[in-house]
Amino acid sequence: MSEPARVAIVGGGISGLSAAYFLERDAAAHGQSMQIDLFEAAPRLGGKIHSAQHDDLLLELGAESFLSRKTPAIDLCKEMGIDEKLRGTRSENRKTFVWHDDRLHQLPKGLSGFVPGNMNSLFSTSLLSLRGKLRVAADYIIPASKQSGDESLAQFMTRRLGKQAYQRLVQPLLCGIYAGDGDQLSLQATYPELRKLEQASGSLIRGLKLRQQRSQQTGEKPLPPFVTLPNGMSDLIQAVADKLASTNIHLNTGVQDCQKQMDGWAVSLNTDEGSHAASVYDTVLMSCPAYVTSSLLENSNPALASQLNEIPHVSTATVNLWYAAESFPHALDGYGFVIPSHEQRGLTAVTWTSSKHFDRAPDHWRLIRGYLGRAGAEIDDQMSDEELVSIVLRELKRTMGISEKPAGTRIQRWPKGSPQYTLGHCDKLQNIDKTVAQLPGLFLCGASYRGVGIPDCIREAGSAAEAVFHYLESET
Ligand SMILES: Cc1cc2nc3c(=O)[nH]c(=O)nc-3n(C[C@H](O)[C@H](O)[C@H](O)COP(=O)(O)OP(=O)(O)OC[C@H]3O[C@@H](n4cnc5c(N)ncnc54)[C@H](O)[C@@H]3O)c2cc1C
Repeated sequence: MSEPARVAIVGGGISGLSAAYFLERDAAAHGQSMQIDLFEAAPRLGGKIHSAQHDDLLLELGAESFLSRKTPAIDLCKEMGIDEKLRGTRSENRKTFVWHDDRLHQLPKGLSGFVPGNMNSLFSTSLLSLRGKLRVAADYIIPASKQSGDESLAQFMTRRLGKQAYQRLVQPLLCGIYAGDGDQLSLQATYPELRKLEQASGSLIRGLKLRQQRSQQTGEKPLPPFVTLPNGMSDLIQAVADKLASTNIHLNTGVQDCQKQMDGWAVSLNTDEGSHAASVYDTVLMSCPAYVTSSLLENSNPALASQLNEIPHVSTATVNLWYAAESFPHALDGYGFVIPSHEQRGLTAVTWTSSKHFDRAPDHWRLIRGYLGRAGAEIDDQMSDEELVSIVLRELKRTMGISEKPAGTRIQRWPKGSPQYTLGHCDKLQNIDKTVAQLPGLFLCGASYRGVGIPDCIREAGSAAEAVFHYLESET
């Protein structure tokens, strides 16, 4: 009997875990045996997905929900048998605000991504001037650009919807997703479908309407746009981990080096007990952030290490705060608000969690969450917890009139937590792919490359697992 193929997966976030699941599933379907070791440096699985119970509150320290329109996460939930538990946000409170001109303005309803789909709502918002609204509507008649090649999100959205809509509407939302700078972010790497819509329909608004009509014609009852799980996003992590039948999960086990050898990849580890002699694997799947993969390959493949290091990552933090409902001065009648970066406030967004999500806080609490840090205004390691909380409290007072002290806070830092797909990102990926192709047995996936959202990470983990599987098949 031949030896089972040996696979090392580096990182136990959603990318690494789902890759392990897809590999096990495919191996079982083909009657192949594999030994999979998944190494996670932290004492827990999940990476940027981290739900924490605090008494009767459920705090999301990282991701809070995912987009249902991108199907890989929904499909994975189905395979895990947890899709029936998925819940949308609280529709009775579906309103989001933008801080502009010293007050909160409601975002127009019917936004799809960043594009207003409901003209009545667009014309009734106080966020844009009449001129700004007419400029958005001009998207219907402005011809598609004939230029090929990449452009920044700021350039593209300004070209289609005007400067005002970009600054007051698109940019703050964008910052909430990428913690990024629209002048630097690449359209091709972040929202290539918007360029395709422009090309196909000559207008973003018309293109999105057509897409919505087509999806309505399928007759399927659409899921709410964003969904989550009753015990938080970590439910997904737990479900995938529980489903793994043969993967050995090694927590508190950081990979410290990877070297290509004649007979495979030598992976050396670092645990509480110190460094360990390297074990050899047929393949290594790196699902950790690109800058970590870079450091692991620095000794053996400096060229690849430096290509990986070209992908910037920005440090951010979240601060959960909770208040007794009885003395809370604000109605929290919505999902929260975003703050345009030109306001230079330190805070980028606030989610009114207890109004946005079910199952997060019982009625006697009001739970909110502040987001800090973005490209150009990152969270500095030197900033103390007190400083982070005081920025949030200062901004809550200014924007929402809350001067009460919270009953509790929970700070979570995400050092280099947000990958930035800046202009040229797709070229960087091409170069990385070329170099990786010359290193048989090495595979990459994770949020640094082809999508930061949870569904994108799962899709890419699926592709990487498939590539690992085919590689191993071709080797036997
Ligand atoms: C604050 C915040 C909010 C977000 N909100 C949402 C949201 O609502 N919806 C959404 O779709 N997306 C959201 N995202 C993005 C999404 O959560 C992430 O892109 C995704 O979870 C990344 O998964 P990953 O497995 O690729 O990487 P990670 O989650 O970063 O996992 C990588 C893992 O590798 C481990 N690791 C690192 N170095 C080593 C080493 N040397 N050896 C072994 N292990 C190592 C890390 O400890 C980590 O567990 C959010 C991100 C952040 C930071």
